[in-house]
Amino acid sequence: MSELHDLYQEILLDHYKRPRNFGPLLGADGDAEGHNPLCGDRVHVHVKLDGDRLGEVRFEGSGCAISTASASMMTEAVRGQTKAEVEARFARFRTLVTGEGAALPPEAVDELGEMAALAGVRAFPMRVKCATLAWHTLRAALDSPGAVVSTES
Ligand code: ZN
Repeated sequence: MSELHDLYQEILLDHYKRPRNFGPLLGADGDAEGHNPLCGDRVHVHVKLDGDRLGEVRFEGSGCAISTASASMMTEAVRGQTKAEVEARFARFRTLVTGEGAALPPEAVDELGEMAALAGVRAFPMRVKCATLAWHTLRAALDSPGAVVSTES
């Protein structure tokens, strides 16, 4: 178990120190801003569509290690997916980090890939907001571009 824990820590730190798809996105089709006032996390998500799929997703902002690593992993996980697939993956991810609802079957955890490294936040309710902030913001960028979302509203 502690080896797995170390591996997870390594994945999180790697994404925190070298966030993937970080920066502005030229010609974005939508964007939204997300705030988590409890922790001070701010994330700005930009999306570019490719037909009905997500072509590219990039993010900017600053936050704690959990929020930054989660946003970084999310940008990789949702590329090429339809909005429905993004929703389904968000639902699975939320179940993973909140521990609410039916436990995820092993194949669903596998499918989450590196994001499974965030499973440990379920023991820290405040941190769940850090982990899901980017996902709420991505949803806003797709549903109501230009929106500002907050974990506290
Ligand atoms: Zn945070």
